[in-house]
Amino acid sequence: MGLLWETHSHTTLCNHAHGTVEEYATTAFERNLAGIHITCHTPLPPGFSPHVRMREDQMDSYLEMIDQVRQKFKGRLEVGTGLECDYLPELEPWIAKIRERYPWSHFLGSVHPQTGEYKATYALGVPVENIKRYFLLLAKSAESGFFDTLGHPDLIKNEYPELWNVDSFHKTICETLDRIAATGVAMEMNTSGWNKTVSEVNPGSVILREMAKRKIPVVLGADAHRPTRVGDRFLEGLEILEAAGYQEVGVQSIGKRERISIEAAKKSFF
Ligand SMILES: [Zn+2]
Ligand SMILES: [Zn+2]
Repeated sequence: MGLLWETHSHTTLCNHAHGTVEEYATTAFERNLAGIHITCHTPLPPGFSPHVRMREDQMDSYLEMIDQVRQKFKGRLEVGTGLECDYLPELEPWIAKIRERYPWSHFLGSVHPQTGEYKATYALGVPVENIKRYFLLLAKSAESGFFDTLGHPDLIKNEYPELWNVDSFHKTICETLDRIAATGVAMEMNTSGWNKTVSEVNPGSVILREMAKRKIPVVLGADAHRPTRVGDRFLEGLEILEAAGYQEVGVQSIGKRERISIEAAKKSFF
């Protein structure tokens, strides 16, 4: 059995992804992963970008749907019931309620600057200030104590691709990473970044180097919205991580995280 997990994947319940849980698990098994977390977008208060997430009354069927596949793959692949949960400070009481509802295998916290709700409150200033504000929210999401991992933690670059220059935000990013490091929360290396406007992993290499200096744990996630992307480009991701100064990669299994050597991780994956 493999060592790595797919930590970030979506199903049709999110209304913008394709494939069944069984199809996602099948790809994970074929790529010799140890397990997969399904992390559909959590329900949010009524009216909050409903077109990209399950409704609250669908949560029981979400749990059942994953449970059936977990039984089917028993002894071959672990299947975790996780969630990707939007973070904004005003959502904290809601997030606390969702968090308590189930022992989620991977509770992934994401600041999503592309949503209308985010833009209405947090993207009203000049672009440079908006980019800084995103990183402040990222630090706050880590400090909220809700999350195992922070999802795609430089996603803001795709909102301002022409303006984005990581070096201009060095001070803000370093302050953010100091705060995140103090919490012990992991950060995701999201390989779907290669398919976005600023085509590189989220976060990119400069930020990864600063994370390595602070020994912030990293877990790999493909953010798969279709089964064929499960574990996508993990090998390249591991090489980038190594070049940034990491010797180990985080492995998020059911409700806990360990570290393994990148060398061992590379050999385990195909
Ligand atoms: Zn996301
Ligand atoms: Zn996602």
